[in-house]
Amino acid sequence: MLQKKKILITGGAGFIGSHLCERLVEEGHEVICLDNFFTGFKQNIAHLIGRPNFEWIRHDITEPIKLEVDQIYNLACPASPIHYQHNAIKTIKTNVLGSINVLGLAKRVKARILQASTSEVYGDPHQHPQTEEYWGHVNPIGIRSCYDEGKRVAETLFFDYHRMNKVDIRVIRIFNTYGPRMHPDDGRVVSNFIVQALQGKDITVYGDGSQTRSFCYVDDLVEGMMRMMNQDGFLGPVNLGNPHEFTIKELAEIVIRKTKSKSKIQYLPLPSDDPRQRRPDISRARAQLQWEPKIALEQGLDKTISYFAAALS
Ligand code: NAD
Ligand code: UDP
Repeated sequence: MLQKKKILITGGAGFIGSHLCERLVEEGHEVICLDNFFTGFKQNIAHLIGRPNFEWIRHDITEPIKLEVDQIYNLACPASPIHYQHNAIKTIKTNVLGSINVLGLAKRVKARILQASTSEVYGDPHQHPQTEEYWGHVNPIGIRSCYDEGKRVAETLFFDYHRMNKVDIRVIRIFNTYGPRMHPDDGRVVSNFIVQALQGKDITVYGDGSQTRSFCYVDDLVEGMMRMMNQDGFLGPVNLGNPHEFTIKELAEIVIRKTKSKSKIQYLPLPSDDPRQRRPDISRARAQLQWEPKIALEQGLDKTISYFAAALS
């Protein structure tokens, strides 16, 4: 039988957070969605508002908050390069002060707390695919550093709060995730390509398109997050992502084919510090969580294209 829990999701009105809120509300938990609505939208949680086991709070995690909860998923942080670079100092504050605040809350109320870390902690990796043992190759002073280094410090804080204060932490490293409710103009590759293809605009491939990424559908990710949260005796870090790797040019071609678009590929300069290749080694997630993604890129793209087709019409 379900043990009903009080669960706080920071960043709950964002892309991934809104899917997580939905799953936890469906399972009957008491869900509190906290967001400052920087990149999140009330629209993303509109279908949950009014449900008796769902509430939302406008709050910024750089300020402390007092709540009584059993579990915390800490997702608050802009995730797309355009958004996290918009106010780089605020991004660092969210990762450092924000983490300290939510860890302080977890410590006070003895809640289990999961940090949404990222594959960006590996930077432009020299190890491929990336295992959790790899320490990364990150530029500390580049334009992506506010996010990459911010997330690295957040991981450090989580493990220090665990070592010093026995806070019950979980750390996941999320690889590129896509699906419905991605922000249509946050510049991430899947949403950009789909929107461009549906609107018949040029598909903007940065560099020669030979750089690689591995794309995980959001429902698979949410399943992995919940398994990690509810697993006893395993703190992580654990990679959560889809191990099938594609070049960005391949992605552009698949999106053009699926949308039957007449769009042409336009090649633009590669942004600085753009990682050359990225693919998770998910052996640890398979062994510890019995988790692996189930939704192939072709299938997930169909769902995402349908969402954007409806959202743009
Ligand atoms: P998103 O931008 O859609 O969601 C982030 C949410 O956090 C938004 O609703 C935003 O308004 C909120 N937020 C930002 N700063 C805040 C603050 N200071 N206080 C309160 N709320 C704040 O991004 P997403 O793709 O849903 O990502 C969610 C989390 O997962 C982020 O922490 C991100 O770093 C991590 N992640 C995402 C991906 C991905 O591919 N989407 C990959 C790796 C890690
Ligand atoms: N990218 C691209 N065209 C776009 C947006 C992104 O070619 O319109 C590339 C980008 O340079 C990177 C990859 O796609 O190599 C993934 O970019 P995204 O911003 O989605 O994620 P991240 O770089 O953080 O993995």
